[in-house]
Amino acid sequence: MKVLKFGGTSVGSAERIKNLVPLIHSPEPKIIVLSAMSGTTNKLVEIAQSLYAGENEKAKALIDALEKHYQAVIRELYKKEEYYTQAKELLRTHFDYLHAFRMDMFTANEEKAILAQGELLSTAMLHYHLSEQGISSVLLPALSFMRIGEDEEPDLKYIETNIRAELGKYPKANLFITQGYICRNAFGEIDNLKRGGSDYTATLIGAAIRSEEIQIWTDIDGMHNNDPRIVDKTHPVTELSFDEAAELAYFGAKILHPTCVLPAQQRRIPVRLLNTMQPEARGTLISETISGQRFTAVAAKDGITAIKIKSGRMLLAYGFLRAVFEVFERYKTPIDMITTSEVAVSVTIDQVKNLDAIIRELEEIASVEVDKDLSIVCIVGSFAADREGSALKIFESLRSIPIRMISYGGSEYNVSILVKSEHKKETLMALNKGLF
Ligand code: ASP
Ligand code: MG
Repeated sequence: MKVLKFGGTSVGSAERIKNLVPLIHSPEPKIIVLSAMSGTTNKLVEIAQSLYAGENEKAKALIDALEKHYQAVIRELYKKEEYYTQAKELLRTHFDYLHAFRMDMFTANEEKAILAQGELLSTAMLHYHLSEQGISSVLLPALSFMRIGEDEEPDLKYIETNIRAELGKYPKANLFITQGYICRNAFGEIDNLKRGGSDYTATLIGAAIRSEEIQIWTDIDGMHNNDPRIVDKTHPVTELSFDEAAELAYFGAKILHPTCVLPAQQRRIPVRLLNTMQPEARGTLISETISGQRFTAVAAKDGITAIKIKSGRMLLAYGFLRAVFEVFERYKTPIDMITTSEVAVSVTIDQVKNLDAIIRELEEIASVEVDKDLSIVCIVGSFAADREGSALKIFESLRSIPIRMISYGGSEYNVSILVKSEHKKETLMALNKGLF
């Protein structure tokens, strides 16, 4: 059974929903994972924010505007009275539910329940549309099998057991539709896998059912070798390894949710990135295979802060790095890049919420310098043993660009460099010219 995930733009209008039918209608058994219609989750966030702020009238206006939008979509989507009426009732239920939050105090759990409405709507709307076309499908409730544990990480064991039980109820069905993004938490409350989490739902389901392939359908023709918004001549990468894909997703290639590669990688399930606007295009295949020494792609991540921690005590000492890392651990701040010399260590972070407190604590053990507005540019490929002078090629391309940090050898498939964000564009263009 394959898993096919369609993002918000792929269900973003009545026309786009209709266009999904030929992509999913075939005898091959599959599970379809949908995002909310594009823009919906942002609107739900706004609604929740105004409820938090006690702006009841504003919340009402936002809910009404969103409902109007959905009414227009269903008017266009359904031809037969019976299905249109059913869809009208669907909207009534979900929008009444939203309005009900205006009646009393608003809590964080309720916010999550609000955020879940987009995926619940989009999946039911596609399910009705398929019925109208005479295509039978089963609506699988994600809330009955998707779950995160107390650590807020997905509980794959639970997901596996429970989705199998759900699927087992329909031995004859071969087309299932379910919600991306939404789940329950360790307390059984409605929760979610964080923004962009529908990709993660798809790879978790794929892993849980040991699917033969997971397809992520978007409106781009795969993962590009460089940022198409900045560099002119980019092209889709046809094949990527899981490790390469994880690096790229984390370092800014917006097409994939950063941690979604993991479940597929653990169970060696290939992930294919495909384009709904160009279904015949090859897209990008992510699998275990690595095709030898090469440069695969470049991506950049902005908003990086570098911290240089310098101490005479680091010289010939052990335990110094532990003391440094413990500070970041106490403030739950992940470190991205790290380089060391004999007397200093530089690290980068992208969460600066606790930066002041971190600096204060570091200053107790060392002198500290902070640089802001930096970008990590990550060059991904296979550089095992680097017999072909990959490093030379990279740095030759960057001849004229001032570099703050270099990280090489942490893994065989990534070289990261840190530059001022004002030099990011130049850096990406220079690498495009020098490497591809
Ligand atoms: N609808 C959610 C969001 O906009 C999840 C997703 O689309 O992946 O973040
Ligand atoms: Mg997405």
